[in-house]
This record gives sequence, structure tokens and C-alpha cells, in this order.
Amino acid sequence: MTAPALLALRGVGHRFRVGGGFLQPSRHLQALDDVDLAVARGETLGLVGESGSGKSTAARVMLGLLRPETGRVELDGAPLEGLSRLAIARRVQPVFQDPYASLNPARTVEAIVRLGLEVHGIGADTTERRDRVAAMLDLVGLSPRLAASHPAALSGGQRQRVAIARALVIEPDVLICDEPTSALDVSVQAQILNLLLDLRARLGLTIVLISHNLAVVEHLADRVAVMYLGRIVETAPVARLFRAPRHPYAQALLASALAPDPVAARRRVPLLGAPADPLNRPAGCAFHPRCPHALPLCRTQTPALGAAGAACHLPSSDTPSQETEP
Ligand code: SF4
Repeated sequence: MTAPALLALRGVGHRFRVGGGFLQPSRHLQALDDVDLAVARGETLGLVGESGSGKSTAARVMLGLLRPETGRVELDGAPLEGLSRLAIARRVQPVFQDPYASLNPARTVEAIVRLGLEVHGIGADTTERRDRVAAMLDLVGLSPRLAASHPAALSGGQRQRVAIARALVIEPDVLICDEPTSALDVSVQAQILNLLLDLRARLGLTIVLISHNLAVVEHLADRVAVMYLGRIVETAPVARLFRAPRHPYAQALLASALAPDPVAARRRVPLLGAPADPLNRPAGCAFHPRCPHALPLCRTQTPALGAAGAACHLPSSDTPSQETEP
């Protein structure tokens, strides 16, 4: 990526302490391990991986909800650490998976969307704030008559539109969308995806899109980062990754999730076994117990992300493909 990063994780690592009690030592779960990620202004970065890969922990770090043990988070080149929670929220806003749980049931739609304007002191008075809310509801495709409704009166898709309006009304720099469609009916998912596409084009949004649904990521993202047990194992422009993944885990993930492409299928390997226990992360490349290409070296040495965007000891994974990258 040549454009300067708007939001970046630099060597971020974080462990959670798990268990512990009478005569039992606690253990550590390495949720993030030396993660380098950057999203440029106007870019949509997809973050994919199985459950336990660290995607949601990365989201919490980006939102300033979790301070990482090691490494740093930067917003426009400045460390996030020096900013208050409120200052971070002004610039980085979330859209969560479950609109049923993320909206205050006691407030009207108008009050839910207006709250951010009040908290951040945006708008001269109540009249201006109401106008901004009305314009935002219109932008996300909600009828003005729903402004006086409570979340319980709305459909799932309407609630997620309210959640998006609430995030965007303060005009943040970055939107962190954590599984924004997975709690919705299939028929509604496409509407919300198309809404995000439309808003991105109209507002020039910068989005980090976290999803286990690869089709969603392929539809919306410009670039993709693949995570496995807390590490980035491959990063690439979306078209290149979906056409010719280089890391064996990325190949297997795509092969297990997408409709078979006869050409690509020849290059892909099946995803063997269950993900490793994060509390007992294998040494070396954490993917080696599931990797059909594992070498002796893979059991002891953790591969770094190579110039071709994959973290793998196989020489072929670090060979840029002959295909033209977009
Ligand atoms: Fe497989 Fe080794 Fe590459 Fe890991 S480093 S993905 S075990 S070949």
C-alpha cells in the first residue's frame, strides 16, 4: 500500500489471562501476535479468519476499547494511546453485529442517532441536530416517520440502518464494521451491503470490515487481511487474494467457503481439522498441524510476512504471481 495509513496497528500483541483459581495457575491466550495492519483513507479493508483468529480483538484495539500489551495503534500517524476514549470515538465508530443488542430500547430512533451529536457537541442547537438526524436517516434509507419509533418496532434491517446512521452522523474518519450483516436475514443482508457500498461511494468512507463471510468481503473490500490464531498470514488486494491466494491457510479458507472455481481449485488445499486451541498455540507456524505442505522448519520457526504478502516458509508463497494485480 502506497497511500499513507489513516489507521494502523504496528506490531500489536495482546494476551488475555484465562482461568486461574485455587491452586490452579492462570493461562494466557495470545489473541494478537505482532500484528501489522494499515488502512488508507477511503479504503475498505476486509479482515477474515475463523473464530478465534483475533479479528474482533483487533477491532476492539482499533476502537480504543482495549489497550494492547505491545505495539501501538496510530490514527493519522499519531498514537491512539494519547487520546481520550471520547476523542477516539469522535474519529473511529463501530457498527456491531447485532442491531438488536446495540440500540437502547428505551430511546426513539431520533434520540439514538442524535445522542452522538450531543455527546460530541456537534450542531449549534437542538433544531440543527434534529435536521442533521433527519438528513442522516434519509441517507441510510429510513423513512422520517420512523424517527419517533423505538427499536422494538423496527425490522432487523431497519435497526442496522439506525446503527449505521448513529455511527455516521458525527462524520467519523473510520467505520469499524464487525460482522455487520451476520445477524440479519439473508434477504436483508444484501440491502445492508448495498447501503454500505452506496455510503462509501457518496461519503468516501474508510471502512474496516470484519467478517467470517468471504462473499461479503469480496463484495465490499478493496484489500483483505487473513488472520490465523492472532497473526496476519496473508494480505493482498481483494481480487488477487480471491483469484490466487498464496498462503495455504488462505487457500484452504477460500476453498472451504466459496463455490469451486475449476482453475483455482487445482491450487487450493482442503482445510484439515479444527483450528488449534488458542491456549496451546503450536510453536513455529501455528498452522503447521493442519497444513499439508508443512516442512520440518515450520514446527520451529514462525514465518514473517514476505514481500508477496504471505507469511509462509514455502518459496512459492513468496513468489509474486504472474497475474496483474489491480
Ligand atoms: Fe504450511 Fe509451513 Fe507455510 Fe505454515 S509455514 S503455512 S506450515 S508451509
